[in-house]
Amino acid sequence: MTYNLMIGGESVPTENHAPIRNPANCDIVGMMPLATPEQLDQAVAAAAEAFKSWSQTPDEDRAAACRAIADAIASHAEELAHLLTLEQGKPMNGLGSRFEIGGAMAWTRYTAELQLPVEILQDDNEGRVELHRKPIGVVGSITPWNWPVMIACWHIIPAIRAGNTVVIKPSPMTPLSTIRLVEIINTVLPAGVVNVVTGDNAIGSRLSAHPGIAKMTFTGSTETGKKIMASAVETLKRLTLELGGNDAGIVLPDVDPKGIAEGLFWGAFINNGQTCAALKRLYVHDSIYDQVCEALAAYAANVPVGDGMDEKSILGPVQNEMQFNKVRELVEDARANGGRILTGGEPMDRPGHFYPITLVADVTDGMRLVDEEQFGPALPIIRYSDIDEVIERANRNPAGLGGSVWSSDPDKARHYALKLECGSVWINKHGAIQPNAPFGGVKNSGIGVEFGAEGLKEFTTIQTVLS
Ligand code: NAD
Repeated sequence: MTYNLMIGGESVPTENHAPIRNPANCDIVGMMPLATPEQLDQAVAAAAEAFKSWSQTPDEDRAAACRAIADAIASHAEELAHLLTLEQGKPMNGLGSRFEIGGAMAWTRYTAELQLPVEILQDDNEGRVELHRKPIGVVGSITPWNWPVMIACWHIIPAIRAGNTVVIKPSPMTPLSTIRLVEIINTVLPAGVVNVVTGDNAIGSRLSAHPGIAKMTFTGSTETGKKIMASAVETLKRLTLELGGNDAGIVLPDVDPKGIAEGLFWGAFINNGQTCAALKRLYVHDSIYDQVCEALAAYAANVPVGDGMDEKSILGPVQNEMQFNKVRELVEDARANGGRILTGGEPMDRPGHFYPITLVADVTDGMRLVDEEQFGPALPIIRYSDIDEVIERANRNPAGLGGSVWSSDPDKARHYALKLECGSVWINKHGAIQPNAPFGGVKNSGIGVEFGAEGLKEFTTIQTVLS
């Protein structure tokens, strides 16, 4: 099937297309439209036109529109999940496509109910100070390929809830589910409030530099985030950047290894490890190192990896060849430097980009598998003996998205959790996010936060009225 852009409420065909392939078997799933620079300009112009009335629409009407979007997604949930599995690879089941579409709905419903009322900062004989939060204008959104539908909703819904309009450009790896999502959203919104353009990275850099865009919201790699920040300078765009991570998990000696194996496993391997806030470096105390390795390997042995359309699959293929090669290279490098493969470690002998669940023991800081964001189904397990020293080692990495501490003593866990330099920190779990908990990175992992009222504020500008 050939997909179209969505500009100003119209389905707009393009002259050129690119095939999108299923990572489980390399079959063509559909044809992505390649927008021209002129079509991008048209999308920004349509969003600017729609902003005139959408920004003035009463708050309760915008809340109702977001609720209607959640209902519309719900009535197309299975169709969206199906398309997502075909282009992204994640299974329909488990923490896969149905889970992602469910998350998109949950965030949409929660954000619909958020309010940013006028705040009265002072009201006395000296005068009155009111703080109003107003929409910014046209928001440019650029998304990655790992959780394309949910992340699209994390960008679109708070932006429009606050009165902005949007031009979204999804990843060229997984554009089709976002096009379909925007088509569904357009059935309940005025024309031009949400537009989608697709194409290669160049159309993304054109969007982020576009003078008609007032704010960029970006989720993707740190490298691309820096480019977006540079391109936003000329027009002083506001920015939210949700970038790469290399989350450390620190296991204290007082845990029950079998009891934490499931939590550790899903912290690391949700979406095959292709998750910004997945556990990517596991530091385990020397006294229980072997038992934790054993418990994790035993849990991993029972997780079926296969084609996402097979209802029995709980993990699918790696999403694309580049990522597949990167994971393979980092595991090879660890092996060559003394890493001990506990499970997996060789590509699976079948079509598509299948790489097995891979646990690598006896690795150390300084190895590429530990220091780089591997973003795939491979977890390095590193030994430590001194808790203060390991916190320092964990913090030495330039990434600062998430982290976790695992202990049977909650006070001790909280004490060390607060020492980790990252935007979110979990105790006895990893990567669990929720719509009311602000989420964002520090250091090289980003600028700003998403979710909840704090996230909504990022799509507003303050006007102070003094009388
Ligand atoms: P990427 O940076 O390669 O691409 C992300 C998006 O940016 C794509 O839509 C791409 O087309 C676009 N793009 C690429 N070059 C561009 C340019 N010069 N100007 C404008 N746009 C450009 O990232 P990816 O490989 O799609 O996603 C994986 C990365 O995303 C990982 O690093 C992961 O940690 C990160 N991520 C972060 C979060 C978070 O919330 N912090 C969430 C998910 C993913």
